[in-house]
Amino acid sequence: MKKTKRIAILGAGESGTGAALLANWLGYDVLVSDKSPIKPQFKAALDARGIAWEEGRHSMDKILAAGEIIKSPGIPEKADVMQAIRAKGIPVIGEIEFGWRHRPKGCRIVAITGSNGKTTTTTLTAHLLAAAGMTVRMAGNVGNSFAQLVLDDLQHDAQTGVPTQRIYVLEVSSFQLDDIDQFRANIAVLLNITPDHLDRYDYQLENYTRSKFRVNRNQKRGDVFLLNGFDPVIREYLDRNALAPAKKVAVRRGFYKNGVIRVGRTYTFEMAQSKLHGPHNMFNAVCALRVALLLGADPIRLQEGLLTYTPPAHRLEPVAAMQGVTWINDSKATNVDSVFYALQSMVQPTIWIVGGQDKGNDYGPLMALVRKKVKAIVCMGVDNSKIIAAFKKLKKPLHETRGAQEAVQTAARLASPGDTVLLSPACASFDLFKNYEDRGEQFRAAVLGLE
Ligand code: ADP
Repeated sequence: MKKTKRIAILGAGESGTGAALLANWLGYDVLVSDKSPIKPQFKAALDARGIAWEEGRHSMDKILAAGEIIKSPGIPEKADVMQAIRAKGIPVIGEIEFGWRHRPKGCRIVAITGSNGKTTTTTLTAHLLAAAGMTVRMAGNVGNSFAQLVLDDLQHDAQTGVPTQRIYVLEVSSFQLDDIDQFRANIAVLLNITPDHLDRYDYQLENYTRSKFRVNRNQKRGDVFLLNGFDPVIREYLDRNALAPAKKVAVRRGFYKNGVIRVGRTYTFEMAQSKLHGPHNMFNAVCALRVALLLGADPIRLQEGLLTYTPPAHRLEPVAAMQGVTWINDSKATNVDSVFYALQSMVQPTIWIVGGQDKGNDYGPLMALVRKKVKAIVCMGVDNSKIIAAFKKLKKPLHETRGAQEAVQTAARLASPGDTVLLSPACASFDLFKNYEDRGEQFRAAVLGLE
């Protein structure tokens, strides 16, 4: 008799729970182990299938008895549990790898990575493919777990006996790419590389870059690797390293002019009426359009899709226009690079709300833009000293605040008709808020509550 294989799943969030449900359906003996409390909805999903779980601890004897480990991308290699697993030589994969291994027949995989723009490009790609009438599933770092979607689709196919041609569009982080093995993207997209999460990569940009390029790992002839052809870090890597044999397509500058995106020699798309703003979003759009065209989407449907797409909240999201002042929520801008693009997109004098938990930021790259575009700086954080030290030489009005309400009221006093107030913090939110969504929502509520 075939022995049931034991799988231990570390971390019971969206991805761990999805992997557990898929593994259980496939007949594995599953243990889910989380060092923190597990959210009630995930416990309920596991209980409904009779899947064993534990919280607040890792039972090492049980974990080390597993034949394979599926780990949450949030668990670093240096965690004790990982060190013990590595010492014993048990294979470790991530949920993306596991979902891919069991993917329905005939599906196509699009994997999108980069330091900034992943969610926007992933949601736009999925929207465009759906607008073109294709069956598309979106997963990874956005919303659903990939394994959960694979499970739903396998169950559907088993019930109906009719396999569907599906496209999975996956947003993949560098952490998720660290835990792939055989995973192969039919189309891989690398948007850009700027320093982020370096604490997980021994503070070496090179290590982080290598992780991002893993999106191309296992690609074969006939696959496509779409990448940013003007990103200096990407270019340098390409000069020094060989790639897997997919067709390399580099997006070069000059694809956007006078409100029109040009894709290759053949296609143009009007962007003036779309809700995407700023040069970075035009780049995201050209990537999404290229992917959709490679998959055979009809350009007329794609043009319609561009107009019906609404970008995800908290990314250069217009919140209100009141007494001639435009208020924009870019709470998701948690690093310097994304603020760079936000400021570049500003077309009116800007009151800039910035600050939060510093991630070792170097504000140097923002200096010229702040000098040119920013009228006043409103700091919003527990410790604003680094921002004040960096920008005081510009001699702009600079105010310290310690919450969304106070920051918005201060900005309202400073703003005149024709100005924009931009929340684009360049920092993590955890000093004052639960997360970036909470920060964006408190900002929105404070703006809408202005007298
Ligand atoms: P991610 O999922 O990679 O974090 P998002 O689409 O959520 O990316 O956008 C995060 C932040 O980065 C937002 O503030 C957004 O304005 C900015 N951004 C989006 N696309 C790009 C890009 N191509 N280059 C630089 N910044 C970008």
